[in-house]
Amino acid sequence: MLGQMMSQPLLISSMVAHAGKFHSDRDIISVETDGSVTKTNWQNVEKRARLLASALGKLGLKAGDRAATIAWNNHRHLEIYFGVSGAEYICHTINPRLIPEQIAYIINHAEDQILFIDKTFLPIAVGLKDHLKTVKNIVLMGARDEEALTALPNILFYEDLIADGDDSYEWPSFDENAASSLCYTSGTTGHPKGVLYSHRSTMLHSFCVVAPDSLSLSAIDNVLPVVPMFHVNAWGLPYAAAMTGAQLTLPGPGLDGVSLKNLINNYGVTLAAGVPTLWQGLLIALRETGEKLKTLDRTIIGGAACPLSLIIAFEDDYNVNIIHAWGMTETSPLGSVNRPLTKHLNQTDTETDQMAVKQGRPPFGIDLRICDDEGQVLPNDTKAQGELQVRGLWVVEGYFKAETETLNADGWFPTGDVANLDNDGFMQITDRAKDVIKSGGEWISSIDLENLAIGHEDILDAAVIGAKHEKWGERPLLLAVKAEGSELTEDELLAIYPNKVAKWWIPDRVIFVTELPHGGTGKLLKNKLRDAYENVLLD
Ligand code: AMP
Repeated sequence: MLGQMMSQPLLISSMVAHAGKFHSDRDIISVETDGSVTKTNWQNVEKRARLLASALGKLGLKAGDRAATIAWNNHRHLEIYFGVSGAEYICHTINPRLIPEQIAYIINHAEDQILFIDKTFLPIAVGLKDHLKTVKNIVLMGARDEEALTALPNILFYEDLIADGDDSYEWPSFDENAASSLCYTSGTTGHPKGVLYSHRSTMLHSFCVVAPDSLSLSAIDNVLPVVPMFHVNAWGLPYAAAMTGAQLTLPGPGLDGVSLKNLINNYGVTLAAGVPTLWQGLLIALRETGEKLKTLDRTIIGGAACPLSLIIAFEDDYNVNIIHAWGMTETSPLGSVNRPLTKHLNQTDTETDQMAVKQGRPPFGIDLRICDDEGQVLPNDTKAQGELQVRGLWVVEGYFKAETETLNADGWFPTGDVANLDNDGFMQITDRAKDVIKSGGEWISSIDLENLAIGHEDILDAAVIGAKHEKWGERPLLLAVKAEGSELTEDELLAIYPNKVAKWWIPDRVIFVTELPHGGTGKLLKNKLRDAYENVLLD
């Protein structure tokens, strides 16, 4: 017989098993919902993940069942990540910032069997409970709590489940293509769409995350995922940390600049990750107190374009290297990372600045291209710009339970971002074709806002665009055409939104115009509107 190698499935449980065995005493710092700090380690996380996995089996979960979370970044959420996926259930993380109707839609669409919540989100669970069609148990992520019992008499408690778990439970082995986690994106039109990750894709993505030309994670790192665990698996950092045995510092609900500064300095964080808005907040807190970041070596910024001023401030004033990255829920999320090639090492300052604002180049495992409106592939010459398309080892093939095709005819995923590429694959996002606005890392549907505005009896036409905003990156701006003779005011028009959309979706400003530009097929020409109005909130 010819020689061959062992065949072991790529399973998420093996990452936490490795961390529990070989990095057992490495700290996991976790800020609880009440602000107190818990210190645990990888050995405990692995053990409690197994206890949880066995307890879920006792509750009747079957392979492939979905277990949902509405939770902050904390050690119980981490245990759920590994316990649920490790036992061949699917960990479905839910964004608590969505409006209740969307959360109910997502839970019912996913057919979640069980829902884990942090205490902060008890009111959400109370509001949801009569609308959930498949959830059999709601679990409070903590010890027995009388207030929770009063609010939801059938609620279960996480610590009771752990106490009821079986310590002899061993991680099962199964097909690496089995689904491991589920995350819905609202960065598309219509209902949120689910992206179902597999054990295999998650493992391959994790190998990429830890690589030197990506986020370069090692056993001596202390990682602060500020990016929530409900946003694309916290960019894969919980898995990458387990794989390398890095320390995790989990910030809980405190994402303001002062809390982040204290966590970084008190616990010796070396690597942090999050959207630009959060780092602006950190910068303000640092400037106000005059403190430095003693241990922070590098920060991954993605989810929205990172302003050059932020990159320069962190590098020059705090000696922190900013790594600009791009990705999507559909790409696990790592799609490109801004890491230099040899030829970039001796650049002038101007060249370095021009490079810094790019979203970076694809790591091995990802391929990028840009296409024009007819689907023709455009050259990688930095001048041509077109829709960014992606394919790779950890890119979505079809949305969860989708009825329509997700990929192009030739197998690429159209991102809805508009970009240019250079010959080395360095990519720069120049615009967005999709009708959604990103404010502080969270999506706002311009179409929903437009439809509500057009529903007002005095409004003939309406368009909502993302206008640039110093703190939030983008904020919605409503452009509206009034009926002749109408004396409708900005405040009166904005009064249509409360109770219909989340408060933070309400446009910052209304500008009344006499007409809006439409193309040949009647579609709003938002590019023209963006050109004319995208800077009005900066003044
Ligand atoms: P999400 O699925 O919520 O992670 O959002 C993905 C989208 O966020 C992308 O399609 C982009 O529109 C945007 N995005 C992510 N990273 C960046 C970045 N570094 N610069 C600009 N836009 C970004």
